[in-house]
Amino acid sequence: MKDIIADRAQKVDASGIRKVFALAASLKDPVNFSIGQPDFDVPEQLKEEAIKAIREGINKYSQTAGDILLKEKISELVKKEIGWDRPAVLVTSGVSGGLLLAFMALINPGDEVIIPDPYFVIYKHTVNMLGGKCVFVDSYPDFQLPLEKISRAVTNKTKLIILNSPCNPTGTVSSEGDIKALAEIAAKKDIVVLTDEIYEKFCYDGDCPSIANYYEKTLLMRGFSKSYAMTGWRLGYVAAHESLTSIIEGMTKIQQYTFVCAPTPFQKAAIAALDYDVSDLVAAYKKKRDLIYEGLRDKFELVRPHGAFYAFVKTPAGGAATEFVEKAIANNVLIIPGNVFSEKDTHFRISYATSNEKIEQGIEILRGLA
Ligand code: PMP
Repeated sequence: MKDIIADRAQKVDASGIRKVFALAASLKDPVNFSIGQPDFDVPEQLKEEAIKAIREGINKYSQTAGDILLKEKISELVKKEIGWDRPAVLVTSGVSGGLLLAFMALINPGDEVIIPDPYFVIYKHTVNMLGGKCVFVDSYPDFQLPLEKISRAVTNKTKLIILNSPCNPTGTVSSEGDIKALAEIAAKKDIVVLTDEIYEKFCYDGDCPSIANYYEKTLLMRGFSKSYAMTGWRLGYVAAHESLTSIIEGMTKIQQYTFVCAPTPFQKAAIAALDYDVSDLVAAYKKKRDLIYEGLRDKFELVRPHGAFYAFVKTPAGGAATEFVEKAIANNVLIIPGNVFSEKDTHFRISYATSNEKIEQGIEILRGLA
């Protein structure tokens, strides 16, 4: 059967995460530190908006680039926050949808994409699928932007630099200084920066600066999945300065023949979501961050996360993460080995998007394994 599968599908390796889920299948009521979504539900008011839209018959295709009112709302927000007067906007089926469209619109075989390592898994596999070349720049051990390495990695084939702050899997938030320095590196060679800001709301110690504020050649991607716990609603957006309108148009053309549009009734609810204040939910997540960090820091090597809902922890005694993860799962704690998000296998990812009680329980078990 293997021969029937196209080369591009064979390039995708999902075995790391599958292995965790296979091992986990037999567990009863485990401490689940593996899930990349909030443990709260979609706020009631936003559910009502979606239900209302469905009842009103807003169930057909929207325009390819998105519901007009939602696009207007996003434009206003981008204008206010980023200062772009007439941004080009595309509503996508999640940030995942936006990433695929961006890569499809921009990457020719052999084009290089600079990706700080550790990275969100989708970048690697979709770039590879399209015949692009991932150029990983190691950000261990502190996970700050490796500016020197990025600068040295730039070649004539560099098509994109990816920035993900707050970061999955490390929880790192890039500083304003680093972001400005990255903008300078990109500007020297006129390279587009793709900034994945899906965790922008989960920012615990001051602001999470956006490179879009300092660099016009930025593709700004934001989502609804994490901020409003609507991962299953499949909504995100891409915005760009008007000078990059051709990229958004290219992505929109591809959306027309692939996703067609983002789910229409949920786009209506997204209009209300952009006015919905999640600061209470974020404050609760800040407490979870504190619990995890304070609970593990004396036994494990970990950098204090400032955003998202992940901690990226070094395995004890320099052991392989895959082995440590098996041990943790045997003790009823689900974590993901670092090699799913990295070219290295030295760390494991904890998602602390679970109840405080489960966090305490998980800390106890992990401490016993340190
Ligand atoms: N970017 C990052 C960094 C993520 O962690 C995720 C979700 N795990 C996504 C993008 C995709 O999210 P969605 O497609 O649900 O918007």
